[in-house]
Amino acid sequence: MQFLRFFAQVLLVFLLTAISQVGGLIYLLHLIFWRVLAKKLENGWQKWLLRWSSFVLFYGLFCAFVVPLLASITGRVPLPLGKNGLLLPLHFGTVILNRHYVKPALKTAATEAVLALQKRFPGTQVNYLDANFPFFDEFPLLPHLSHDDGEKLDLAFLYLDAKTGLPSTQAPSPIGYGACEGPLPHENNMPKTCQQKGHWQYNLLPRLVSQRKKKAYLFDEIRTKALVQAFVQHPQIRKIFIEPHLKSRLGFNASKVRFHGCQAVRHDDHLHVEL
Ligand SMILES: [Zn+2]
Repeated sequence: MQFLRFFAQVLLVFLLTAISQVGGLIYLLHLIFWRVLAKKLENGWQKWLLRWSSFVLFYGLFCAFVVPLLASITGRVPLPLGKNGLLLPLHFGTVILNRHYVKPALKTAATEAVLALQKRFPGTQVNYLDANFPFFDEFPLLPHLSHDDGEKLDLAFLYLDAKTGLPSTQAPSPIGYGACEGPLPHENNMPKTCQQKGHWQYNLLPRLVSQRKKKAYLFDEIRTKALVQAFVQHPQIRKIFIEPHLKSRLGFNASKVRFHGCQAVRHDDHLHVEL
């Protein structure tokens, strides 16, 4: 029993570290605090509830105040939460799990690109998806193996509300990934090519993610093209990954806009930019 409890705790530390980088460490710090407090409490569900609610509070405070401070000292900053009216997380899980950290140069580049977009389409806010963890190079943000140095950022495409035809601030996938703007019959079908080459993971996400809300949104070709253009024109941005059929549909031939390879996953559900 003792061994099982220890094993479960080790597993939990690994899991929290894998999904949020600092979650495992915060769990261990909280455990020290809890060991002292637990001696004074009687066993029962109230004790269990207090343990986990105090951990959630501990985690929240640590991520809100300590992590951004330490990350900025070591060279990464959190992306804005939407107050600047430019960039905001598509869903708050990205922020809760510390997956919204970038190098200051990338934050500046993304902000400037969205400002350029807003000159053409006033009021357009851009939803970001996974960026990087707050600390250490070569610590990948799973499942994105390349998001390990503060220089990578995924962004949601822009959409129209299918009912009204007006710009929407939302996206069809609840997690931002997996609702694909697939190739038309006459377009280059890289998802099929990669599948045929045996890269099973390339098409995995659309099968895992709910497609329920897909019909409620239309891919906003005009504003998404302007968004890609703003990043293409930014001197600090070196690479942009988008699926080949969207690259030609949107009319890009810049070498910055390139194919990411069959070893990755399809990029017709989001945009990847990097320094
Ligand atoms: Zn990416």
